[in-house]
Amino acid sequence: MAVMAATLPLVTETSGGLRPPLAKPGILDVPTETLRVWLADRGQPPMRVNQIRRQVLANRATTFEEMSDLPKPLRAELAEAFSVFSTRVERHLIASDDTHKLVLRLADDRMIESVLIQDEGRATACISTQVGCGMGCVFCASGLNGVVRNLTSGEIVEQLVRLRNLVEFRIADFGLQIESQKTTGADSVNPQSAIRNPKSEMGRLTHIVVMGMGEPLANLENLLEALAVVGDKNGLGIGARHVTISTVGLPAKIRKLAESGKQYHLAVSLHAPNDELRTRIVPTNEKTGLDAILAAADEFFETTGRQVTYEYVVLGGLNDRPEHARQLAGLLAGRKAHVNLIPWNDVEGLPYRRPQDADLRNLIETLRKAGISVKVRKRKGSEIDAACGQLRRRAEQSSVISHQSSVISHQ
Ligand code: SAH
Repeated sequence: MAVMAATLPLVTETSGGLRPPLAKPGILDVPTETLRVWLADRGQPPMRVNQIRRQVLANRATTFEEMSDLPKPLRAELAEAFSVFSTRVERHLIASDDTHKLVLRLADDRMIESVLIQDEGRATACISTQVGCGMGCVFCASGLNGVVRNLTSGEIVEQLVRLRNLVEFRIADFGLQIESQKTTGADSVNPQSAIRNPKSEMGRLTHIVVMGMGEPLANLENLLEALAVVGDKNGLGIGARHVTISTVGLPAKIRKLAESGKQYHLAVSLHAPNDELRTRIVPTNEKTGLDAILAAADEFFETTGRQVTYEYVVLGGLNDRPEHARQLAGLLAGRKAHVNLIPWNDVEGLPYRRPQDADLRNLIETLRKAGISVKVRKRKGSEIDAACGQLRRRAEQSSVISHQSSVISHQ
């Protein structure tokens, strides 16, 4: 994914080790009605469905045994029939800037990536929506082997739960809480109480970016279902305004997203200012074309009132020439838009290069002069690999080795 870069030594690496694939369905993917019937067969009321979900989503339970508001025999029966998570952590990498990257092995042995970026009081989850990607952008590692399948909504939620469970307890958050209690006149918080009840004081996710592997709008239904679950106050409590969905630009689906009535933030991967160049970089452009994408994005803005971000992966010598800067400014001038410039992150074996500083500066200045807001995306987690889908490829290539190495146990 775009925020990732490559190749310095790892700080931490763990692997999933020798375990057979899970045979039991993950509880987050069991349809409500199925679970309700399963519970009724055991004489349990329907409210248990929400209790179980709340345990995983809000209470951070990672085993059924921990679900202390359920009768003990039921916990054992649940553990017989289901698993709390349907994925296993194949690799867990932590960079020195606190960025975490997970390679998750799905029940069918496929692998996906999810990333947690912790920065300036934010904890952002970057999640995948498909195994692989069918869009074929020429600079991206995710699509090198095409798309295998859509992720289920449970698999999408599970990435978020797993990343949320990694967000660190931060003393700064705790300090804030003490401050707010003081200003309302309540007694100051006893730090001991936080230690006695650590889960309630743990960090939480503040933002979601759907910028991992896959094309989110090609799996819109499952994505919206998952975001509804995590958006709920009994879920992870992350509202639509804190969610960014990045797309290659599928006009009909952009409209559908706008019609969902939710305040999601839309990011459109533009990468070129004219159709000829865009079709070379983003093959799906041949069928859609820039005009249709921009028209759909404009409609999205009109319907939702939310400003659209345009992403532009800067490929040295290819889309960063002065004429590209001028054309891009011309294309977006007059639109209430924001541009994120993303210097290309190297992908092993691909013949592109990062832009030179002077070319990046020229892009920034040309856009700013045209009144367009622009930012260069920061690199995070630079030690831990890698642009979109690279780590998964590496994990697949070395899975024999990692299966033999020792394990830190993850649920
Ligand atoms: N399919 C969606 C989500 C892809 S990932 C989309 O096309 O938007 C999010 C962003 O990262 C996209 O803009 C994508 O083009 C970009 N990206 C992928 N690989 C990259 C790389 N190696 N370097 C920089 N950005 C990359």
